[in-house]
Amino acid sequence: MNTTAISITQASCADDYDPNSMPVAKARAFIHQFLDPVTGVLRVPVRTALGRVLAEDVYSPVNVPSHRNSAMDGWAMRAADVSGDRESTLAEIGVSFAGKPFPGKVAAGQCVRIMTGGVVPEGADTVVMQERAKANGKSITFAPGAKKGQNVREAGEDLEEGSLALKRGRIVRPAELGLIASLGIGEVAVFRPLRVAFFSTGDELKSIGTVLGEGEIYDSNRYTLHGMLTRMGCEVLDMGVIRDDPALIEKAFTHAAASADVVITSGGVSVGEADFVKPLLGKLGEVVFWKIAMKPGRPLAYGKIGSAHFFGLPGNPVSVMVTFYQFVRDALLELMGANPVAPIPTFRATCTAMLKKAPGRTEFQRGILSQAPDGTLTVKPTGEQGSGILKSMSDANCFIILGDDTGNVEAGTSVEVQLLEGMI
Ligand code: AMP
Ligand code: MG
Repeated sequence: MNTTAISITQASCADDYDPNSMPVAKARAFIHQFLDPVTGVLRVPVRTALGRVLAEDVYSPVNVPSHRNSAMDGWAMRAADVSGDRESTLAEIGVSFAGKPFPGKVAAGQCVRIMTGGVVPEGADTVVMQERAKANGKSITFAPGAKKGQNVREAGEDLEEGSLALKRGRIVRPAELGLIASLGIGEVAVFRPLRVAFFSTGDELKSIGTVLGEGEIYDSNRYTLHGMLTRMGCEVLDMGVIRDDPALIEKAFTHAAASADVVITSGGVSVGEADFVKPLLGKLGEVVFWKIAMKPGRPLAYGKIGSAHFFGLPGNPVSVMVTFYQFVRDALLELMGANPVAPIPTFRATCTAMLKKAPGRTEFQRGILSQAPDGTLTVKPTGEQGSGILKSMSDANCFIILGDDTGNVEAGTSVEVQLLEGMI
């Protein structure tokens, strides 16, 4: 999409939403239309591609597996010799180890000892696993009823030579590293990492290493942002704490937008504070300020400052993490070139406690999901749900997502949950 063709503020005015209470899904869709993925491409050694996004389709230059091989330890033979309804006894004429094939041919009445991954010798088309055989020296007796082709992996069965192995836009995880290596490919093209600059705003914020004065607190948002962005494979530019001073904030925005693809701030977008940030961003770029119908994370700003995307997150530490996971994560993945971007899946679990909830907004409560020995999934809230209580995020392993229409939730009700941690 050509982002210059659409004015963010015009689009927000032309839209049919109420900017005073923007539903979560609508805000996501709005942001989505302005996202323009990076185009820079790097060729990197396979291992370096971990966490990056493939910039080119990867085709298989070889058949995988490269030869017909055994899926089991056992013996290879002709199906006709073992497919009957009686036991059969064949003569073992050699061995095929993985990487050390049997050079001869298997004739009727013969078999070859074979190990998993060993080449299935010429003449043989079936493998009987050793658990279904009895060896008496070189004379091997097999249980009846084998099926032709059983336990044989055909050459090219996983991937045929010339076929598409991985599509451009795929995020490289450990499985992709292994898959690329299995094709004998040593280097791949990935999109350059996304550069993300961020800073915190607030006169009360101090960095670690300084002594707190009255009413001051340590800045934690830059640390959670560092963690979330680094885990996503972004190059981070931490610009520190910027005081609530229009001249300093303007300088910081200008520097951040010139240095990065994305600028993220925390604090400064709630009513009152936005009063001076708003005109500033009106001057530097195009930004919309929303009250999202959600808790936590109500104030949120999105727009462009020059060519950089801007996300103005609320100041409260839990709100930062919730708005990051619910809005920024998917947007960053799209900007990184990931395609398709799979939203973090949700599923249902039985809530073991009563939850307080006001209808008319989406709540992202912090929960602890557990699995009973019978497999039942249950979730309980972490306790106090204040948007300043970062420990609730630390104790949680999931969000409990309560939709706009939901009111108070009784214990025993099924609720929607979203895991904070993925396996890989
Ligand atoms: P604000 O959105 O700036 O009004 O901030 C809302 C609340 O979050 C206030 O209690 C701030 O002190 C707190 N807060 C803002 N920024 C940070 C930060 N970087 N680290 C920890 N707390 C913060
Ligand atoms: Mg503030």
